Amino acid sequence: MSDKAAAAAIPNNLEAFWMPFTANRQFKKAPRMFVGAKDMHYTTAEGRQVLDGTAGLWCCNAGHGRPRIVEAVQKQIAELDYAPAFQMGHPKAFELAARLAAMLPSPLDHVFFTNSGSESVDTALKIALAYQRAIGQGTRTRLIGRERGYHGVGFGGISVGGIVANRRTFGTMLTGVDHIRHTHDPARNAFTRGEPEHGAEFADDLIKVIQLHDPSTIAAVIVEPVAGSTGVLIPPKGYLKRLREICDQHGILLIFDEVITGFGRLGTPFAADYFGVTPDLVTTAKGITSGVVPMGAVFCTKAIYDAFMTGPDHMIELFHGYTYSAHPLACAAALATLDTYEEEGLLTRAADLSRYWEDGLHALKDCPHVIDIRNLGLIGAVELEPIAGEPTKRAFSAFLKAYDDGLLIRTTGDIIALSPPLIISKAQIDELFGTLRAVLHAID
Ligand code: PLP
Repeated sequence: MSDKAAAAAIPNNLEAFWMPFTANRQFKKAPRMFVGAKDMHYTTAEGRQVLDGTAGLWCCNAGHGRPRIVEAVQKQIAELDYAPAFQMGHPKAFELAARLAAMLPSPLDHVFFTNSGSESVDTALKIALAYQRAIGQGTRTRLIGRERGYHGVGFGGISVGGIVANRRTFGTMLTGVDHIRHTHDPARNAFTRGEPEHGAEFADDLIKVIQLHDPSTIAAVIVEPVAGSTGVLIPPKGYLKRLREICDQHGILLIFDEVITGFGRLGTPFAADYFGVTPDLVTTAKGITSGVVPMGAVFCTKAIYDAFMTGPDHMIELFHGYTYSAHPLACAAALATLDTYEEEGLLTRAADLSRYWEDGLHALKDCPHVIDIRNLGLIGAVELEPIAGEPTKRAFSAFLKAYDDGLLIRTTGDIIALSPPLIISKAQIDELFGTLRAVLHAID
């Protein structure tokens, strides 16, 4: 693209758009604008190709511009653009729910549709509270999250979440929330390949919290099986199983937030499959439509669903939902996404690639600034030594340099997080780590 064409692609006035989770002033001085995307690459306003090392925001698991999904959405918008979500239905919503329910480990067989990960989290928390009440356990109103957890940005999600910056300015939010410790333990586990050996005992924090508050006050525990947004924290071996056992012993629901791990990221359809641990509720979004149309889904067990199906038939059983729950475009996109995943074996592809990915990632150990490397499935993290007194600056420099060099990475704190589309080739994995190596050598 010529300079003139690039200038035309970048609007003159960038001021009005208050960008989310963005350093607005920095961005507006030197905008990074995508104008196209195909398979593993974005096209910038200047006409450069950028390798997608992050599947957008952990969502474009099938890659970009996939024909089946594009056609399905185009067709759907012409056929049925919208149907009321309350007291009305459309066939694709039921088809999708049935297909998804069949993918989740039993007995997770009912689906509530939302439009984002944040909405999925708030929905799951509300279902958990309402369920406890429905089964005569109305004193169970407490929700337990984990330090360094990210559960989106709704008031429920930030309350159970454990990111200080996301909570600091918003007052007391939900009361009756407590947190267990995160499992990140670099002193014992740095540079672990896959699941860390040490730290299953962090799950026993839950016992302490239960003893402190009494089990009769606790409705649910929510964790990300692999914490993504706070820098890729892989659960220690046995940790999630232990959490499940403790929840079972005390009548507490276990919620897995699989907004990132769902839909093939670990080489299994869901993290619940990977770890062999079945929670009571699962929150998802992102990969459900490969990021093409906003959509989220909460999965729950039959026992939870059935607990609501009492009372007169004409009564609404759960006072919750969104105008755009099961939006026809989202359903069409999701069905075509599932077709694409199935046809190309994408939900298990990360299992085949993970060893190659792991070797390439850990080869960066000798690069400047690197203090830890972590991985699981097609997720990787490179943690950098922060610049003294200027946390996050070094990783942000890496992000800018990588973008200039044709690679999209994501940073959180001083951690570089990588999660490419599941269609990535071995040659592209080599390219990704080759570029990152050069970036790490180039930054201060
Ligand atoms: N939960 C987890 C584990 C996430 O990683 C995210 C987003 O990254 C969310 C919830 C929130 O999703 P959304 O941004 O779609 O609201």
